[in-house]
Amino acid sequence: MSSFDYDLFVIGGGSGGVRAARVAASETGAKVALAEDDRYGGTCVIRGCVPKKLMVFASGYGVLADEARAYGWEMQDGAFDWPGFRGKLNAELDRLEGVYRKLLANAGVTTFDARAVLKDAHTVALSSGEEFTAKHILVATGGHPVRPDLPNADLGIVSDDIFHLETLPKSILIIGGGYIACEFACILNGLGVEVTQYYRGAQILRGFDDEARGLVAEAMREKGIDLHLGTNIVEMDRAAGDHSLSAAGTGSDAAAGGLHGHPAKAEGNRAGSGPVWVKSTNGGERVFDMVLFATGRDPNARDMGLAEIGVEIGRRGEIVVDEYSQTAVPSVYAIGDVTNRVNLTPVAIREGMAFVDTVFRGKPTPVDHELIASAIFTQPEMGTVGLSEEDARALEPVEIYCTSFRPMQSAFADRPDRVLMKLVVSQASRKVLGCHIVAPNAGELIQLAGIAVKMGATKEDFDRTVAVHPTMSEELVTMRTPMRTA
Ligand code: NDP
Repeated sequence: MSSFDYDLFVIGGGSGGVRAARVAASETGAKVALAEDDRYGGTCVIRGCVPKKLMVFASGYGVLADEARAYGWEMQDGAFDWPGFRGKLNAELDRLEGVYRKLLANAGVTTFDARAVLKDAHTVALSSGEEFTAKHILVATGGHPVRPDLPNADLGIVSDDIFHLETLPKSILIIGGGYIACEFACILNGLGVEVTQYYRGAQILRGFDDEARGLVAEAMREKGIDLHLGTNIVEMDRAAGDHSLSAAGTGSDAAAGGLHGHPAKAEGNRAGSGPVWVKSTNGGERVFDMVLFATGRDPNARDMGLAEIGVEIGRRGEIVVDEYSQTAVPSVYAIGDVTNRVNLTPVAIREGMAFVDTVFRGKPTPVDHELIASAIFTQPEMGTVGLSEEDARALEPVEIYCTSFRPMQSAFADRPDRVLMKLVVSQASRKVLGCHIVAPNAGELIQLAGIAVKMGATKEDFDRTVAVHPTMSEELVTMRTPMRTA
């Protein structure tokens, strides 16, 4: 008989925490509790991947409607009904939250709608005043979006806020060049918002394959996004002569990206509450209905008593863990974004499963963070697995197989869209070290290519595979001559 209240206490009801809790409870018979102080489902389900992907779908229909005309359909122009869509979106998120709660209940996990902090290596104190002991504690508290350290930055919204907007702005400035900035630039552009994006670096999507991100940037511009590279925001304030402060984001004509001389006095600032005056690093001054900061996310590891009990906290505020997700305090483990390893939902889930295997099944299971395929839901999407050409070249001699072309579907509709299929191949081992796809549904394609790359497929294995015709991805198995060797 354990002297603890629970075998496992999970803090955080997102993808990673819920998976670990329910598998530990239902498959190993552990007595498990979970505390969540916000909505069950966490970032992915409530304010990330899921609502974002539904918005990606919503934003794609404008172009599809145009394309349908080119294919002979008679179409009437119509406007996008944001409140209508948002209502359905919220209903879907409510449903999914219910599913998460039910999964936990069915697995026999006791849940607490409360914030939890650690009192010692085995004790959790809840905001409800209750305290519980547990043999193991799993911290799965995720992360949160951060604004830059800039006066009046609170005037700008962050990604969490987008799903709650009363109305869509007429114009928006997006700061950042990462996943979230680029995805929302495309989504909002597709929904009819005038999108301007400032990225401080030389090219968006830093760290990804140069050729692939170059094509994404080109496509974004072609679709109407006003992308400024090497540009950042230096000052911001409420716009002068702002007539629409009481009507949040209604898009006054005066605010639609026009030039304004100087800022107004800032009082009672509130994110998204009216047009914002912005000065950029190149000296330009503009006014936007809204500013979105997509400038990164920080781990949720503060004010939880972690450092006080001996858990090591890293430079970015993340919980430092070993390959088994164990912290410096042996009874305390951490998974997901709060550990700032690879901040993706399926990775958090994997880490949760590996934790259960290690701690409750007696099978020490390190988490494999190699060759994780991922997708960026820009328009077109980018799917990627393995090394970029640049990273691979730095390690060993490589051959680059690459083709970029106009896909049949949009070419027929006379659209200029291009796709990219690229393989980075080791000269020595012949293994495909990296696969990069920019194309509609690249996320779906890279999931499958990712299996081959993870298995260690060689270029010759790709070549032995007969093409599926006519598809875009058949090019991945028909490229015969390297475009470059290096
Ligand atoms: P990222 O870290 O990917 O990007 C942050 C961006 O903001 C970078 O372009 C960065 O520039 C820029 N930035 C940071 N600080 C400042 C500043 N002070 N001023 C101006 N620009 C700044 O973060 P995201 O918020 O886009 O996404 C967070 C994480 O969420 C991702 O890393 C990813 O793991 C996950 N995610 C995954 C998705 C998917 O799988 N499709 C979708 C959305 C999120 P610089 O490059 O110069 O550092």
